[in-house]
Amino acid sequence: MLLREVEGEVTTLLSDLIRINTTNPPGNETEAASYLAKVLEEDGLDCEILESAPGRGNLVARLKGTGEKPSLLLLSHLDVVAANPGEWSVNPFSGVVKDGFVWGRGAIDMKSMTAIEVMVMKLLKRNNVKLKGDVILAATADEERGGEAGAEWLVRNHPEKVMASYVINEGGGQAIPIDGKNVFTIQTAEKGILWLKIKAKGSPGHGSLPGAADNAILRMCRVIERLGNHRAGIALIPTVVQFLTVLAEGNNSIKEVASLLRNPDVADNVLDMLAQRDKAMAEEIRAMMRMTIAPTIVHGGVKENIIPSECEAVFDCRILPGQSISEAFKSIRSLLGDIEKLEFEVIQSNEPSESPTDTPLYQFIVKVLREFEPECLVTPIMLTGGTDSRFFRRLGAVCYGFHPLRSDLPYGEILKMIHGVDERISVENLVFGTSVLYNVVERFMT
Ligand SMILES: [Zn+2]
Repeated sequence: MLLREVEGEVTTLLSDLIRINTTNPPGNETEAASYLAKVLEEDGLDCEILESAPGRGNLVARLKGTGEKPSLLLLSHLDVVAANPGEWSVNPFSGVVKDGFVWGRGAIDMKSMTAIEVMVMKLLKRNNVKLKGDVILAATADEERGGEAGAEWLVRNHPEKVMASYVINEGGGQAIPIDGKNVFTIQTAEKGILWLKIKAKGSPGHGSLPGAADNAILRMCRVIERLGNHRAGIALIPTVVQFLTVLAEGNNSIKEVASLLRNPDVADNVLDMLAQRDKAMAEEIRAMMRMTIAPTIVHGGVKENIIPSECEAVFDCRILPGQSISEAFKSIRSLLGDIEKLEFEVIQSNEPSESPTDTPLYQFIVKVLREFEPECLVTPIMLTGGTDSRFFRRLGAVCYGFHPLRSDLPYGEILKMIHGVDERISVENLVFGTSVLYNVVERFMT
């Protein structure tokens, strides 16, 4: 069932993509888009490169269907975050194949998925698959800096070229090994972002006479302490309820999570217990259940002996699907209601998003995964971070983060490689990912 015959082709595709340095900024995605256009044209696919600015290319290709079924977009981003070669054991832009792995920046996030999606398009065309709906490929710029020159720009300026009923993108698909079983995730939700700058005012004075001044740093300390330690109320969204149910199902090491579902009031106590064994998992679940607020930047004071009249701090606030940016803003202001002389500024915000799981595509993904791994469990998951899926969900598309990966490295190690060092993916996983995705798309669209 594994498409062994594509091993060499998809591996070369990924190595080549890694060698095209698309570190964002500046991105320089057009070079990668042109490379992919050439690769797709070899199989007779027509491609278009849409630049949001010089060098910021977005590649779009479409296989037409008869229109009997809804359309499907295979989405990925071409840009990567920076890599410091001094920290890596190989050159991060070499795309070298070593010990059965393809190494380099983007090997997981997310040039491997781009390679897999391109391979799937080529195979659909090569095999002359009679599609009942359009299958679209979009490999975009700028995801790592918010998508303004990539997915967001495409959706705003060329919706007719990229909008689809369904979208498959990054953000899930990774198997979490639990008690010897693979639990495959499908990203169905992501939190919203509210980046907030708060300025505390005071009145200046000499450092030798603290009582005579009104120190803005002290005022900011109260704000940071209040927001940084705040535990917002728990709200269980459908994705998280299903996620916790699957975790609890037959997984002895995490069965306490079942009680979370029965009684959210004791959730934090249960998570404190779980954290003693598996801190990463416990804190991930904690962040899935509520709005979080983290102070991330503080600036105040200019000189050793001057009491400052201003201090500002930035807070990274993440909200749940179902909550709104304006409600979150209001609740933060009311938490600080008794502290005077504060000014608020929203730096950036994105609304949260969630897609349902009761769709034919979701059921197909589960079915195909079970054919590859009969024992596996499948669960929807919410990302506490964000992906380009939000732009498509906003316009009504059902989006799933599904980059199928078996766990051939410890789960924690994979999470560390994303935006970290020695990012790599096994050739075996490239073949697995291509095989699963091809099966899903071919069978769902015919
Ligand atoms: Zn990514």
